[in-house]
Amino acid sequence: MRSSESAEPRRRDLDWLIIGGGVHGVHIATRLITDAGLPTGDLRIVDPSPRLLERWHDCTTTTGMSHLRSPSVHHLDVDPLALQRFAGKRKDRTGGVFAAPFERPSLELFNSHCNTLTHRLGLENIHIRHKAISCRPRPDRVSVELSDGSRIDARHVVLALGVSDQPAWPMWAPHPHPRVHHVFEPGFDSWPASTETVLVVGGGISAGHVSLRLLAEGHHVHLVSRHPLREHQFDSDPGWLGPKYTTDFHREPDPDRRRSMITRARHRGSMPTDMARAIRRAIGRGRIDWHEGEVADVRDQDDRLAVRLDDESPLEVDRILLATGFATRRPGGEMVDDLIVSASLPCARCGYPIVDPSLRWHPLVYVSGPLAELELGPVSRNIAGARRAGDRIVAAVRSERAGKVSA
Ligand SMILES: Cc1cc2nc3c(=O)[nH]c(=O)nc-3n(C[C@H](O)[C@H](O)[C@H](O)COP(=O)(O)OP(=O)(O)OC[C@H]3O[C@@H](n4cnc5c(N)ncnc54)[C@H](O)[C@@H]3O)c2cc1C
Repeated sequence: MRSSESAEPRRRDLDWLIIGGGVHGVHIATRLITDAGLPTGDLRIVDPSPRLLERWHDCTTTTGMSHLRSPSVHHLDVDPLALQRFAGKRKDRTGGVFAAPFERPSLELFNSHCNTLTHRLGLENIHIRHKAISCRPRPDRVSVELSDGSRIDARHVVLALGVSDQPAWPMWAPHPHPRVHHVFEPGFDSWPASTETVLVVGGGISAGHVSLRLLAEGHHVHLVSRHPLREHQFDSDPGWLGPKYTTDFHREPDPDRRRSMITRARHRGSMPTDMARAIRRAIGRGRIDWHEGEVADVRDQDDRLAVRLDDESPLEVDRILLATGFATRRPGGEMVDDLIVSASLPCARCGYPIVDPSLRWHPLVYVSGPLAELELGPVSRNIAGARRAGDRIVAAVRSERAGKVSA
């Protein structure tokens, strides 16, 4: 089968369509093919990016991170030990393939494993490089209109829409501006070419990575965060991966209370201990100027920026790099807004879907990633969340098939 939209612009009657070709979309496709035995030809992944996992590659490369935050059992293949096996002979704990603690894989190893996986399953060949602009459930199928005007009718749809195309812009940040950038802007390529003074905004792991990268490249860094450095190895307690916390979460019927549990459980704006130590060391040596507070305003001053912090300290910098994460609003924009109205789909007060334990928002529409949060809890957005979503969706496929056989 050949890849690209031009091969099959008007395809009809597909079994499964996954909207979103990021970490979640790729893992769900892997599970459907490998675990649920779906023929690859019965599945498509629609995503406007030129290659699958594009936003993952862009965001992780930008930060300059060398290793993942998550352990080696969190990857996109099925068997939890697949990444360890893939590392094979390269596995040398002193050589950086895995980093302590928790055997976190290097980004290079993780990406190379992803490439091997997508190639092995032929996922590039089922990638349709368009955006889904509308998604309308009918009695026995879902009609999905694509940005090239074509339409796909699928018997099942998975919404695997991430938040990584909605970087969070603080209110005070001028936008667009040639010297103010968000590091997760699609296509971000605004690193200083010569030595500069850079203000990094943010208090989490991305701000830490960006600051350390700028230091390594010889720039002077101001780091402004609304809170002191917060140290957590993971962005939520590992107890959320098992019954320790999820039992109570699943017992809670009220989606608004579930949202509060998620908010409390997330270590937003935190970084692992080794990174916090490196940042503190750089602050101690005067290589990073640390400011706890908020930016009050920014003005152009000749070729530089005059920045005023809320404690009134004035700063003059050449560039501002925002490492302020992603907007918390529900992903999917108008397509999801329209789907909610047209199919009368239930949402909590936070705007996020209320789904069943199989992650079905509608009998034919499943969700993964942020959209599955009120069912999977705080790990939902991560690689571990993709794996949990895969478990639920595969179980639903199996029981649907069993129901058909016994009927
Ligand atoms: C720098 C960084 C490091 C991280 N490190 C880790 C880590 O170590 N461990 C971990 O578990 N998690 C980590 N995460 C968190 C999480 O795993 C990643 O953000 C992951 O990329 C999320 O995947 P996703 O598929 O949900 O979203 P995305 O990567 O955003 O992919 C969603 C895709 O959907 C597409 N899309 C959106 N709307 C449409 C539409 N209408 N039609 C078609 N396609 C559409 C988008 O183009 C995009 O390609 C990290 C995140 C970042 C930013």
